[in-house]
Order: sequence, then structure tokens, then C-alpha cells
Amino acid sequence: MGIFTLMVVLENYRPKRKHTQKRLKHWTINIGLGLFNNLLLKVTLGGLAIQSALIAQENHWGLINNFFSTEHWATLLLGYFLLDFAIYLQHIASHKWRWLWRFHCVHHSDLEIDASTAVRFHPGEIIISMIYKSLCIFLIGPSALTVFIFEIILNGCALFNHSNIAIPTGIESRLRHVMITPDLHRIHHSMKRVETDSNYGFSICWWDKLCRTYTAKVAQPLAHLPLGLPQLRAVEKLGWLYLLALPFRRQQPRD
Ligand SMILES: [Zn+2]
Repeated sequence: MGIFTLMVVLENYRPKRKHTQKRLKHWTINIGLGLFNNLLLKVTLGGLAIQSALIAQENHWGLINNFFSTEHWATLLLGYFLLDFAIYLQHIASHKWRWLWRFHCVHHSDLEIDASTAVRFHPGEIIISMIYKSLCIFLIGPSALTVFIFEIILNGCALFNHSNIAIPTGIESRLRHVMITPDLHRIHHSMKRVETDSNYGFSICWWDKLCRTYTAKVAQPLAHLPLGLPQLRAVEKLGWLYLLALPFRRQQPRD
């Protein structure tokens, strides 16, 4: 909530793009989905990631629990980077595997992105992500503290890289050596598939550079780059009920 508030203040102070939708409606849909997902996790799998780390530690499951000291700071870093890579791979799978895309396209259907887009996910994707993350934790074996820090950084970075903030070029060009900046993530929300299928990272940008999924620049200025999905352009249609039913509707194949 603290990071979200900070992003909203900065978005108002230095916006990158003009709002094309009514802010209240946009937020009602995105934050409404976010609150629903939060509530759903609270009554279902909310503590699963931390719980999985504790179970893995108790039973000596996973790489780190078997081969490294779980107390060392270097192990914390190793666990963090392996988890981040696992989430990067899941994001690629969400774009390439059409059943996962059916859920992930709810996130990409936003026609303009700001900090509220960071919580715009279909509940199905949230549950799938939690189960996947838990399985990765069993394989990697990070400590509960590592998972806790990872979750905070991941959520904080997602709020930052979806935000509609115009970061001064000098700072942005340095930041993008290390992390996915709002400009880089805006390319990921482009309407063109070749651009959407790139910049999959959420926090650091090294996986994209390493696996050649990194797009630094696009032809159009980012302040005017069309965002969203070509087949879902009617904003009046993109309400809660439509978005919740979207994975189960007949969908046009991606171009
Ligand atoms: Zn995506």
C-alpha cells in the first residue's frame, strides 16, 4: 500500500502518458480485481509460499536445503535469483501456452497502464501462480525469509514498472542496466505481439538480456505507443464480469 501510494503521487507529479480513460472507472476495475484476489488468497492459498519454504526446510527438500547453508547471505541471494528466474519462465509460458494466455490476457487487456494494472489479474492466474511458485520452492529450497523478501520486492517492482511515471532519461538509462523500468515494461504491454512477447522480467532485466527476450526500443514514442490487445479495444466491454469470464470465452487466435 505504501509503494502504491508513492507511485500514485509520482504518477500525478510526472505522468508519462495522458489518461484516456476515466481514472475512477479504471481503478474500480483494476483495484476491484486486486482486492478480490487478495481476499481469495486470504481464504485459500495465501500463506502457501512461506509454508512451502518451511515444509521444504523441515524435510530437506530442494537444492539449497541439500547443498548449502540456509543461514548464509549468499544462499539468500541464490534463492532470490532462482525464484526470480522461475517467475520469468512462468511469464514466458503464460504468453506462449494458450491455456495460460487465456488467463494472462486479462492483465494485458488494460488499454492504459498505471500502478493499478499491477494488481489486474484474473483470480485463476493468481491461484495457478501460487501453486507453481510453491512447486518451485520445493525444488529450489529457499528459506522462508528469502521467500518473504522475494514477495515484497516482486510486488514492489510490479507496482513500479507498471506506473505511469516519466522518469528523467539520465536516471532511466542507468536503471535499465539492472531492472525492468516502466518504459521497458510499457513495451511488454504494446499492442504488437512481437513487442508484447518480450521484456518478461518483473524486477531485474538480466534474464531477458541473457535469454534474448529483451527489447530496449520500439519505433513509436512510448508516450503514444498503443497498449492493450488488438481484439479487445472496446473499453466499455472490459468490466468485471466480462474479464472474469474472459478465459472461458471463445477467443480469437493471437496474430
Ligand atoms: Zn505478460
